[in-house]
Amino acid sequence: MQPNELSRHLGAEDELPGDFGTRPGDTLTFGSGSYVRALSVGEAHQFTQEPHAEALVRGPAPTAPPEGVVENRPEPRGLNRPLRRGWRRAGRQRVAAAPEPPPPVVVAPLARLTIELVPETSWYNNVRALVDEPTWDRIRRQVYRQARYRCELCGGRGPQHPVECHEVWRYDDLTRTQVLARMIALCPACHEVKHFGLANLRGKGAKARAHLMGVNDWTARQVDAYIEAAFRVWEHRSQGLWTLDLGGLAPYVTSEQLQATLRRADRPQL
Ligand SMILES: [Zn+2]
Repeated sequence: MQPNELSRHLGAEDELPGDFGTRPGDTLTFGSGSYVRALSVGEAHQFTQEPHAEALVRGPAPTAPPEGVVENRPEPRGLNRPLRRGWRRAGRQRVAAAPEPPPPVVVAPLARLTIELVPETSWYNNVRALVDEPTWDRIRRQVYRQARYRCELCGGRGPQHPVECHEVWRYDDLTRTQVLARMIALCPACHEVKHFGLANLRGKGAKARAHLMGVNDWTARQVDAYIEAAFRVWEHRSQGLWTLDLGGLAPYVTSEQLQATLRRADRPQL
């Protein structure tokens, strides 16, 4: 590992470098007082965009987190690997320049409901904008039926209409690819949390925060630290353009419709 490849430990006030998260051990620490948490970028991504149940299914083989502790950083390697106590004193060479290993424990409440902020540079990159109205109607009705008209995260139903169709995207920050993971049926309250920035603009931020707290059984401190982290990731992701990967649309449309959508997505969006 070269000196300029040392992992970085940044706090809430630091600027995130463009390549933050590309080095093993890059860590973001946020929170205050007795509630200080360290979150690796890799984990932050999972934490802010994946419902927990899905993360367990699709994630990179996470180990079962004991008592609400999530440890999902890349395996530390090279100088960053854990050393046995006393190793340095008796080691073969001086390792004065070796970085301290990242904080050993990441304490993050398990999340059933997460915030999924679409980067500002990708606001009009979505399935709904790329397919025609009848196709969108078919997709969303299929999603509703498969979920039996119940929210797939909290099991609830909305008072006016039971559920809404939400596009779940994953963001690969290394390749700048925005990948459609699936479509999901959400009650209006959970859907509002997903688009927390929009809820804020509509004056419904407090209601969305309360719902997020309730569904995840979080404290006020936990929910506020989480919201802060979600917006920091969003700001970071909003600094560049994203390439769409619409392969996740395949289960919902015919191959002809998929090809037509891919062609439309290739055209410059106005
Ligand atoms: Zn819900």
